[in-house]
Amino acid sequence: MLRTMRCALWALLLAAVAASPAALAAKGQTKLHWYGQSAWKIETPSGGVILIDPWLTVLTNPDKSSIAEPGRVDYILISHGHFDHVGNAVEIGKKTGAVLITTADLGRNMVAVAGYPKDKVVTACSGGTVAMPKAGARVTLVNAAHGSDLLIPKPPESGPVTVPGGNPVGFVLQIDGGPTIYHTGDTDVAEDMKLIPMFNRIDVMLACIGGNFTMDPVRAALAVQWAKPTHVIPMHYGTFPVLAGTPEELRAALAKRGLAGKLIVMKPGEDRTF
Ligand SMILES: [Zn+2]
Repeated sequence: MLRTMRCALWALLLAAVAASPAALAAKGQTKLHWYGQSAWKIETPSGGVILIDPWLTVLTNPDKSSIAEPGRVDYILISHGHFDHVGNAVEIGKKTGAVLITTADLGRNMVAVAGYPKDKVVTACSGGTVAMPKAGARVTLVNAAHGSDLLIPKPPESGPVTVPGGNPVGFVLQIDGGPTIYHTGDTDVAEDMKLIPMFNRIDVMLACIGGNFTMDPVRAALAVQWAKPTHVIPMHYGTFPVLAGTPEELRAALAKRGLAGKLIVMKPGEDRTF
């Protein structure tokens, strides 16, 4: 009798461990690391490494060695030309040989003006999907409502300080054996977001919420309702005083729509596995 009870207890314990997020993460896990702003490192189950909007020298990044030793990077995705999204892409690209994936317009000027290695650039436009075989993943560029000019590193004394970067985009990242991630880029909420769940079931939405240059938490809550992700992680807030939206405001706005359970809040420098 005692033995039967012990067996039953063990079975219960094993079932609980198997269902815990940590146990699920151990098998074929995808790791998301947030540097701050819109900068992410995504490590895929196949061992690939993807950086999105890699501003690694952002003040909120607690790991100051990220740039000196970026480690393996297979792909760099840039959503638009603004400095807080192009970030340290050129330096990292030259150090790691990473392939840059961005829009055709921005890709051209990333080579011509910013100096990204020409043979390492793959371009597409909104609606297009690019394979990332070294990471076991593929990315679809989707609409974002924002700007996209690119700063000229050493502009002439009289003349423009920027060049065009085409249309801004967001990214839908499908990872083999892992989650599907929607990185909004910088954008307002837009009805185009209703299209996202018609093509992909989103596990994780990385959503800008700072306001002023993008949607604020109230508008972002509607974006979450339309994109229908399982989880939403806010980003692009708190880096500068003007990006005043907070995760608490997003939680309140989501709660009004019955969506507060979707919220995961991370701190810059943290990891999360899915
Ligand atoms: Zn931005």
